[in-house]
Amino acid sequence: MDFAAFAERADELEAEGSDLGTVALVADLLADAGDELPVVARFLRGEVFAGWDSRKLSVGPALCYEAIARAAGRNVSVSDVEARLADTGEIGAVAANYEFGGQTGLSAFAGGSDGDGGAGGDLTVRGVADSLAAVAAATGEGSEATRRDTLFGLFNRASPAEAKYLARLLLGEMRIGVGGGTVRDATAAAFLGAETTTPVDERGEKDDEKREDDAGTEADDDERGDDGDGDGERGPEDESADGDESEGERERETGDDTAELVAAVERALQVTNDYGRVAELAREEGVAGLRSVSLEVGRPVRAMLAQAGTVADALDGWDAAAVETKYDGARVQLHYDGESASVFSRNMEDVTDALPELVEHAERELSAPAIVDGEAVAVGDDGRPLPFQEVLRRFRRKHDVDRMREEVAVELRAFDCLHAAGEDLLDTPLTERHDRLRDVLDTGVSDLLVSDDPDEIAAFETDALEAGHEGVMLKRPDSTYSPGRRGRNWLKRKPDVETLDLVVTGAEWGEGRRATYLGTFLLSARVEGRGDPEYETIGKVATGITDEELAELTDLLEPHVVRESGTEVAIRPAVVFEVGYEEIQRSPTYSSGYALRFPRFLGVREDKAPGDADTLERVDRLADAG
Ligand code: AMP
Repeated sequence: MDFAAFAERADELEAEGSDLGTVALVADLLADAGDELPVVARFLRGEVFAGWDSRKLSVGPALCYEAIARAAGRNVSVSDVEARLADTGEIGAVAANYEFGGQTGLSAFAGGSDGDGGAGGDLTVRGVADSLAAVAAATGEGSEATRRDTLFGLFNRASPAEAKYLARLLLGEMRIGVGGGTVRDATAAAFLGAETTTPVDERGEKDDEKREDDAGTEADDDERGDDGDGDGERGPEDESADGDESEGERERETGDDTAELVAAVERALQVTNDYGRVAELAREEGVAGLRSVSLEVGRPVRAMLAQAGTVADALDGWDAAAVETKYDGARVQLHYDGESASVFSRNMEDVTDALPELVEHAERELSAPAIVDGEAVAVGDDGRPLPFQEVLRRFRRKHDVDRMREEVAVELRAFDCLHAAGEDLLDTPLTERHDRLRDVLDTGVSDLLVSDDPDEIAAFETDALEAGHEGVMLKRPDSTYSPGRRGRNWLKRKPDVETLDLVVTGAEWGEGRRATYLGTFLLSARVEGRGDPEYETIGKVATGITDEELAELTDLLEPHVVRESGTEVAIRPAVVFEVGYEEIQRSPTYSSGYALRFPRFLGVREDKAPGDADTLERVDRLADAG
């Protein structure tokens, strides 16, 4: 397939307004992709390599801008590219506005197809993929020049439309509204005869801004799901990883057949971690082929993720909870083929060489081939855990590994097993997987308490905290392993966060029995050193309030009502509430730019005036620390 044809289809996708239309367009494109189907399926997601593949393109913005500037001609500098980027905000649009192709010379013809160069027309999807593979493979002396020349060559041969998607591909953001669920559903529609449906997990995506995480479904810029700078800060896309929905709750508004076909594609994706291979399998071998795929030792699987939750959440929904220590380290996946072991990070990078003690542990202690999920923790001389930043010092280290090993000792805490002795365990219930883990691994396995007693769970948590760990994980005992999903079957329960003292600036009258009481309270943080408005809203609280308290709060607040409209009232800042919450999230809903997750009323701070309430600055700090 010509790259120009791919770019044209990508333009159509970008312009498509509905989710359903997007799935249909992707299905058509996959059906037309011919031999290049695997590459097209990956490119649509902004990926050059399969998810399991530890090769990385590693083209940063600087290199990309430089290649664009060079191909755009002598008069164009990197700062010109950057200036235009500042104007348009998007590298694809910038690249599409240059005229390429004027540059000649040997490297102008790099780029992998047999055309004769010039602006546009001779790049193929495969040629681009091959060139990018060469860029990824270039290491050592002279590799920087090879990378530069190859990228320059690609742009130099690109038409404006091609350059747009080339630039986006290099930086991993296609921005065409094609999420993982879209490719999955389109694969089922194109090759298995499924109806074209709106992907449940991406519904409405087209209505909003294009997703920030279009390019990568990973919530995992870093082993902790942080921003990668090791400060524990969450990236904007962390919560929007695909697969937010809880397993078992996914209702499809489609016929059973379509649901089953889509599930077959989904399962194959989970097992292989490869959109390209799955699309090809669906086309060549149908549902039977998809169902026959199995895990391969040595190919990393996406890690199952956890949502924040409470013991009450767990025990409300499940018969009992499987409780484990939440270790403060970095996620690792160990693959052992019976002879040697490799280690992968949460974003599936091969970190085998950086963590020899985990390799030794696996090779010494595993009695059968296995894929083991766990946490790498740094341990001090006294055996107590060290902060996770210490572990990160060991990850990705290429030099001085032995010296670092003396400085920071890393140990394995294994908590799950995806494959043991030739058998895949993704569909096996959690407690059984844990038993299998114990069968194959003698040491370094997490303790698991299965309990429905909140006091027993609280005692387990106290022990974990006293031993220096982060808290506990609550897992649904009969749940299967869902790669890449942030479902509700794994809950991370962290100790309660600091409370906030917030000013009540509005409220809503209740309904029914509570119609004479103010029921939902609008909360605001104070903005220091600024006049009007001195407060910015941050959330609403309605839970944790007894009927008796509602009456008292109504009496307390009613005199301060300044305006009423419908059931809503505006309230003059006068009363301060102490509020607990599970997390502070960035959110456009409130004027502060933040929202509280699960806010609950703890009491009125009678000792505090609005001027003593917490400031937005403190909220900023807490949000950063969370
Ligand atoms: P968070 O990084 O806060 O989203 O918490 C989820 C992470 O906790 C996982 O990705 C693991 O790296 C880590 N973790 C620590 N202990 C466990 C455990 N027992 N089970 C699952 N994940 C754990």
